[in-house]
Amino acid sequence: MGVNVRNEIESRVACGTLTIDLVALVANYEQLCQRTAPAKAAAVVKADAYGLGAAQVAPALYDAGCRDFFVAHFIEAIRLRPHLGADARIFVLNGLLPGSEADCAELGVVPVLNSLEQVANWSATAKARNATLPAAIQFDTGMSRLGLQPEDIDTLLAEPDRLTGVHVDIVMSHLACGDEPEHAANERQLERMVAIRERFADAKLSFANSAGIFLGEEYRGDLARPGIALYGGAPLADGDNPMQAVVKLEVGVVQTRTVPAGAEIGYGASFVAPQEMRLATIAAGYADGLPRHLSNSGAAWFGGVRLPIVGRVSMDSIILDVSALPADALKLGSMVELIGPHQTLETIAADAGTISYEILTSLGRRYNRQYRRPEAAARNS
Ligand SMILES: *Cc1c(COP(=O)(O)O)cnc(C)c1O
Repeated sequence: MGVNVRNEIESRVACGTLTIDLVALVANYEQLCQRTAPAKAAAVVKADAYGLGAAQVAPALYDAGCRDFFVAHFIEAIRLRPHLGADARIFVLNGLLPGSEADCAELGVVPVLNSLEQVANWSATAKARNATLPAAIQFDTGMSRLGLQPEDIDTLLAEPDRLTGVHVDIVMSHLACGDEPEHAANERQLERMVAIRERFADAKLSFANSAGIFLGEEYRGDLARPGIALYGGAPLADGDNPMQAVVKLEVGVVQTRTVPAGAEIGYGASFVAPQEMRLATIAAGYADGLPRHLSNSGAAWFGGVRLPIVGRVSMDSIILDVSALPADALKLGSMVELIGPHQTLETIAADAGTISYEILTSLGRRYNRQYRRPEAAARNS
């Protein structure tokens, strides 16, 4: 069976449809570019573009003019490289483990150097190849996660030989509390970043993630690194979400039933029907990225009606209380909304006690994935 035939069959038989709107993604990228101008916007496409498919997402952004892409692991860069034009630059946020440097140089991927040890390894690689190799250097301005610590900066500047063969293209840091504009940590990190930047005057500054773009001009640097906002997530913890929704998730009903008062529902009988109820079982569970923490907490939507999840989320299914709908509204094969116009990413994440990032990066592999592409939009309009 050919790939196209299989895709066509899968789109007909799948119990769930994940629609990824690349037109909205590109619109989000363009909005972020405008907000961050004259600085440029890169795209953070780590973790398979936050679960949405780097092989689809990155080329769409490339076509929209993006040339700087950030992944977390070197292996992600290896997988991404063939999907992008030769002039695209791929940065590896987590840096390199010893032994990866030659492959990284060979592929033209740019490591983010997070320690003096990584600086030494990259410089040695450059010397061995008799070449100058580009790098970003990350500084820890207060998150204590990745990057050179304050004393390392003095060492690096006092001993410039450490950077032989390394062209420091970008100096960067990452905000720990950017999504809370009032948090005092933001200004502290900014102050430290500005001081470091002065000592690397020739390098570009990369500081803002999605939230950072919204914190104000002084946070934007030369190259912003938005991730979540590209994918439609809210950049700030509170307030309106100015981004367009990119993801829609619909899941099929596989059974409906009416149960009497006292019926026990789902694993562990964690929910007992207080009165006669109508239930629908839908074909997605925690194996599809709907967290078990949605048990007796979250909901799906149909026809503008909220349908609470009752009982525990199973691996492959979830039970909904559909009593609020007319009796025959849902039948075998009806599709209910888990993420869409009625229920944002942030809502389902809050119901699950988590954040939009985790919902996106957990989205399952069993859904039929439909990409809405910019070309199709142009043709339709
Ligand atoms: C993940 C990540 C980003 C993107 O952050 P968002 O909040 O998704 O915009 C930017 N920079 C670094 C270092 C990251 O780890």
